[in-house]
Amino acid sequence: MEIKKFGVIGAGQMGNGIAQVAATSGLNVLMSDIKEEFTAKGLAAIEKNLSRSVAKERISADEKDAILSRISTTTDLQQMKDVDFIVEAAVEREDLKFKIFQDLDAICPDHVILSTNTSSIPIGRIAAQTKRPEKVIGMHFMNPVPVMKLVEVIKGLPTSEETFQVTLDLCEKFGKTAAEASDFPGFIANRILLPMINEAVFCLYQGVGKVEDIDTVMKLGMNHPMGPLALADLIGLDTCLAIMETLYDGFKDSKYRPCPLLRKYVEAGWLGRKTGKGFYQY
Ligand code: NAD
Repeated sequence: MEIKKFGVIGAGQMGNGIAQVAATSGLNVLMSDIKEEFTAKGLAAIEKNLSRSVAKERISADEKDAILSRISTTTDLQQMKDVDFIVEAAVEREDLKFKIFQDLDAICPDHVILSTNTSSIPIGRIAAQTKRPEKVIGMHFMNPVPVMKLVEVIKGLPTSEETFQVTLDLCEKFGKTAAEASDFPGFIANRILLPMINEAVFCLYQGVGKVEDIDTVMKLGMNHPMGPLALADLIGLDTCLAIMETLYDGFKDSKYRPCPLLRKYVEAGWLGRKTGKGFYQY
C-alpha cells in the first residue's frame, strides 16, 4: 500500500511533531485542529524547530522550505477525505477520540488506516467505534517526536497483520524504531514510566523530597537524562493524570492510584510546560 498523503489530527505538541517527521520523510501532510489559532501555533512550532535544525546545520534552508511546503492545515475534518493514513493526536479524552474515529470512519475511503497516538486508551475500544476495526492501530510516538527514536506500535485484537506491516514500514520511513506492544492499559512505555512519575509526585506530596532533590536523585543516581517531575511537566500533567486513571481503571489495582497532588495541579490548570507552570516555572 503506497502512502502519499498523511493526515494528522491535533496540532498540539505531539501532532505537530508527527507532522514534522512525516513531512521530513517526504510525505505530504494535512494537519487539523479545532481552531485556526491551534493549527497556526502547531505550524509555528514546526517552523521554529526546523529553523533550529538549520542553525545547527542539520538541514539546509532549502530543505526546511521544502518540508514546510509539504504541510498544509485545516480546521475541517472533511478535508481528510483524500489522505491515505491518519494519526490521531488530539487530547487524551476517550469521548473525544471516539467521536473523531466515528467521523473519520465516515469521511475516509475504506483503504485508509486510522491510527491513534493515544497514551493509554485501549486500541480495541477505539477500533470498535468504526466499521474498519482491522484498520485501526496504535502508533505511539514519544515526546519530542522529531528527537525520540521509538514508536510503540499497538495491535488491538481486531488489528490485521497488513495494517501492522504498513505501520511498521511507516515507522521505518520516519527513521524510527518500532517496538510491538499488546493492547493492555498503558501498553509498555507508560505501564512502566507513569507509575514511576506518579511515585515521584507521591514523594513530593509526602514531603520525602523537594522537586529539585527528587529529580537530582533520578538524574545523577539512576542516570536518567531528565528527572521524573521535569519529565511530567514535559509530557503535560493532564496527560499524566489521564494515563494513571486509565491504568487504575484498567487493572483495578490500587498501586496505580493517581497521587492526589497530581490531581490538584491539574485542577489548578498547572499542566507543565504547555501552561508555563507545573512542578517547575517556565
Ligand atoms: P496537546 O494538548 O499539546 O495537543 C492536543 C491538541 O488536540 C490541541 O491542539 C487541541 O486543540 C487538539 N484537539 C482537541 N480536540 C480536537 C478535535 N476534536 N479534533 C482535532 N484536534 C483536537 O496534547 P499532546 O501532548 O499533543 O497529546 C496528544 C495525544 O498524544 C494524546 O492522546 C496524548 O495522550 C498522546 N501522547 C502524548 C505524549 C506527551 O508526552 N505529551 C506522548 C505520547 C502520546
